[in-house]
Amino acid sequence: MDLKYKWATEDIYKDLNAWEEDFKKIAKPDFSVFRGKLGSVKGFSECAEKQEEYEKVLEKLSVYAYMKHDENTKDSVYDALLNRVNSVAVKFSAETSFVIPELISLDKSVLESYIKDPALSDYDYFLKCVLKNKEHFLSEGEERLLSMSAEALSSFKDVFTKIDNADLPITHFTHNGVKYPLTHGTYGVYMQNPDRALRKKAFKTYYKAYISLINSISATYYGSVKSDVFYAKAKKYPSALAAAMAGEDVDVKVYKNLISSVHTALPLLHDYMAEKKKALKLDKMYMFDAYVPTVENADIKLEYDKAYELVVKGLSVLGKEYAGLLNKAHDERWLDVYESDGKRSGAYSIAVYGVHPFVLLNYQKTTHDVFTIAHEMGHSIHSYFSNRTQSYAKADYKIFVAEVASTVNEVLLCRYLIENEKDIKLKKYLLSYLMEMIRTTLFRQTQFAEFEEKVHSLVEKGVPLNKDNMSKIYLSLNKKYYGKAIVSGGEIKYEWARIPHFYRAFYVYKYATGIISALAIADRILTEGEPAVQDYFKFLSSGGSDGPVELLKIAGVDLTTEKPFTGAFRVFGDALEKFKAL
Ligand SMILES: [Zn+2]
Repeated sequence: MDLKYKWATEDIYKDLNAWEEDFKKIAKPDFSVFRGKLGSVKGFSECAEKQEEYEKVLEKLSVYAYMKHDENTKDSVYDALLNRVNSVAVKFSAETSFVIPELISLDKSVLESYIKDPALSDYDYFLKCVLKNKEHFLSEGEERLLSMSAEALSSFKDVFTKIDNADLPITHFTHNGVKYPLTHGTYGVYMQNPDRALRKKAFKTYYKAYISLINSISATYYGSVKSDVFYAKAKKYPSALAAAMAGEDVDVKVYKNLISSVHTALPLLHDYMAEKKKALKLDKMYMFDAYVPTVENADIKLEYDKAYELVVKGLSVLGKEYAGLLNKAHDERWLDVYESDGKRSGAYSIAVYGVHPFVLLNYQKTTHDVFTIAHEMGHSIHSYFSNRTQSYAKADYKIFVAEVASTVNEVLLCRYLIENEKDIKLKKYLLSYLMEMIRTTLFRQTQFAEFEEKVHSLVEKGVPLNKDNMSKIYLSLNKKYYGKAIVSGGEIKYEWARIPHFYRAFYVYKYATGIISALAIADRILTEGEPAVQDYFKFLSSGGSDGPVELLKIAGVDLTTEKPFTGAFRVFGDALEKFKAL
């Protein structure tokens, strides 16, 4: 294969010897000299600097091993490297596990003076978070008990995983005399099959399996919710929601605002579902019809280099610097482009501080893969800007904002293609691509978020959860979100029972706030131009230097208000109008 389509791992380490040299430097982490010393500026800053030195090298070592492993997963050499670096990482985190508790035990005034100290400015945001945590820190003995209980309380998730992956009675279904294998992976594919009877069979068979275990699943999820509530109470948070949001440094207001703003836009979703029903020529539409593509796949069929050029053109509204970086990434081999024997499937972006980001693709000539280039390069350039601007301690961005840059690129590219495409079928395909993305990421995840909030608050009021009350709540939400176009009944009321994400409470809302932010930013860039682009770059450069909601404000997105939602729904509404017109 032409070397120009392979990523330049030599930019991290020229060879295995260089990797081994670096490995020696961190093989035996020892931080014992810093124990009990964090109460002085000198002690704290020396410890923080040494931690940083270690982390930088660990990151380089592990990213290199990871990338090499993914180039050919059949090659066990890199498995061994990964194992070695992972085991040092575990030692390192055990060695430094005293840091946060020791900082929390310091006097409030000491922490406040550290935050103001210009010599410690790299750590000010980290210290602010420690200070916020201090309010919820219990006595040493209580904290120890709590962390001991954490292992037992996390069992509910493991129980569900076992049910979902081992005990769930799904194997196959038969349709027109043909046996079809049914798994979690194939279920999603069947839901997009144009044969309606096949979809229905797959849907009914899949749900039947969950329903056969519904009492066990209900009890398992109830246990998980109870442990969220227990932990929040023990830690003196007003609610399980507040405890989860504190972990990400996001105000509860953002969560409530997401739900109420999405409610105001539900008529748009109802309208979309009705339009989809019409396009699919259905007299009745069920949930097993919801995932069928409205427009058959229309592929752009471009060679990789041409596809990449199209992405650069599609994102030209971001200006010369951005285009220059995209071209640099292409020419300097940040990307590993084609499928090869043993290569890991899918796509991702990964960055090394002080080097540059890398992207793994498995490029095929589909429209979806053109979007994947834009998506992954969005992540990469976000990392590039942040790493270039921020110190190591502040460079990493939080999960809350992680999908913003990638989605901005997808939306901008989609809008560009829609504007410039002559082929009506492809244009309709692109519009429905955009609308489906908004339906599944924004509306569906908000519906999930609302369900989580409702069941947690029931338990906080002392109401036990069971299959009946949870299904009743779920069904009423499903009706509310999808409206009259969908016949909302039957199995769908048990959908909550099959969502693994629910065992990580109050997580999925981030998908919704991520896409809202991205749509609002894209809308602003397309309507205001240069000033919006400049603000967006400032956001991309801000890494993890402050709370994620604060950082988004730099790009003009204030998630505590209704404004970004208005912009986001405008994009959806526009797409729907254009689709109807075609
Ligand atoms: Zn992504």
